[in-house]
Amino acid sequence: MEIKKKETGEAGKMEKIISLAKRRGFAYPSSEIYGGFAGVYDFGPYGVELKNNLKAQWWGKMVYERDDIVGLDSAIFMSPKIWEASGHTKGFSDPLVECKECNARSRADKLLEEVGVFADEKMSEAEINKIFKENKDRIKCPKCGNKNFTDVKKFNLLVKSNLGDFTNDKSEPVYLRGETCQGIYVNYKNVLDSMRLKLPFGIAQIGKAFRNEISPRQFIFRGREFEQMEMQYFTDPKSEMEEYEKLREYRWKAMLDLGIDEKNLKWKKHKNLVFYAKEAYDIEYNFPWGFDELEGIHARGNYDLTQHSKGCGKELDYLDAESGKRFIPHIIESSGGVERLVLAMLAEAYAEDELGGETRVFLKFKPSLAPVKVAVFPLLKNKPELVKKAQEIYRELKKEIRPIIFDDNGNIGKRYRRQDEIGTPFCVTIDFDTLENSTVTVRDRDTGKQERVKTDELASLLKHSIYGERNKS
Ligand code: ATP
Repeated sequence: MEIKKKETGEAGKMEKIISLAKRRGFAYPSSEIYGGFAGVYDFGPYGVELKNNLKAQWWGKMVYERDDIVGLDSAIFMSPKIWEASGHTKGFSDPLVECKECNARSRADKLLEEVGVFADEKMSEAEINKIFKENKDRIKCPKCGNKNFTDVKKFNLLVKSNLGDFTNDKSEPVYLRGETCQGIYVNYKNVLDSMRLKLPFGIAQIGKAFRNEISPRQFIFRGREFEQMEMQYFTDPKSEMEEYEKLREYRWKAMLDLGIDEKNLKWKKHKNLVFYAKEAYDIEYNFPWGFDELEGIHARGNYDLTQHSKGCGKELDYLDAESGKRFIPHIIESSGGVERLVLAMLAEAYAEDELGGETRVFLKFKPSLAPVKVAVFPLLKNKPELVKKAQEIYRELKKEIRPIIFDDNGNIGKRYRRQDEIGTPFCVTIDFDTLENSTVTVRDRDTGKQERVKTDELASLLKHSIYGERNKS
């Protein structure tokens, strides 16, 4: 069957992705039956598979393929002293303004950015207020369009809990971590000593982070609860920048390896660095609204370990066995969000074309990342001998390829469309020829073409098509 390419068009793409995500079990707004809960999303049966595949790819690249990086799973709750030492209790804030007409809250730096004015995160409340006022005639409320705002106030993003607070006294609250890397810094000595590592080495972690974002937006792009994939690489100060360049290149290649088209990626260099940083770049992805941050790759000097050393009163240095010198390692990091990557992958994979005179929507994920690898169908539901054979083939395949699904609901065309929409790369159909000559049809998602394959070669052929490319990367 011939497939004609159709321009997907960027207009409305985000709405299409959000609707597909909900309709086909990728992501749902949190607490929906209770009217929702802003800035939080739940991932459905296919969303969790996609997320797990992306995390596995990251862990493979950052831990298994490296001899110099180890994994960690630190707790979400930590001593409040950590957030004090890292500067988060004072400095981890966004500038908030409220529209006096409709009460919508926005980030002042983002509103300024929209009119081409750059507000630095280092700026004080008074400084941002001044530039906000200077530009107030050009800034509109994103909700109601009015230009009547309150003063800018800095708002701390750390999420507080009442863990262990049974007396309601005024003691410092315990926070839900605002970023996963602090768990890595405070375990630097434990990992170094228990694993007998030598510089340079890295510690990688995937886990939840929480931020009281003022205006969570763009679906799962900016949430209040999200997952981070972070790798902190500890270096000799002399080789920090050389290692930094290597990490940038490594992460760029890892993005391409996900199947992202290079034209949809770009480097953004930070113009105003925080005082301790040597260099900072973000990898931006061309989201439906334009290029925006996907992952940060930063050279942080020795700031983090120095702060914690001061905070806890213990040496967090490194003894170089060759020179006999002690120093605090410098850190380079790569830090990305799982949900942002899920959204980037959905945007990258989303495609429409025309098949048999009808528009079809499909997700052209690289097979190893697809939430479902194979779908098995009996051609007709009401022919017991076909259903029995299809079940048999399904159960055999399931031993080797996961996850796969069985579907005998509706006509075969509809079943193909359902699989296309969730990005299943291969559909196997059992028909009357299967009973005669032990062959099945395998349909390719992207081309729609079907090929007859011997049942005893089916598993190895599919495995090669799904996982073969992984071995090459
Ligand atoms: P932004 O400028 O977009 O607020 P950031 O620079 O504060 O992000 P970092 O603190 O460097 O972000 O966090 C590292 C990564 O974590 C980001 O590149 C992003 O992928 C992810 N991330 C940060 N905040 C959020 C969020 N609220 N929701 C989802 N992912 C996030």
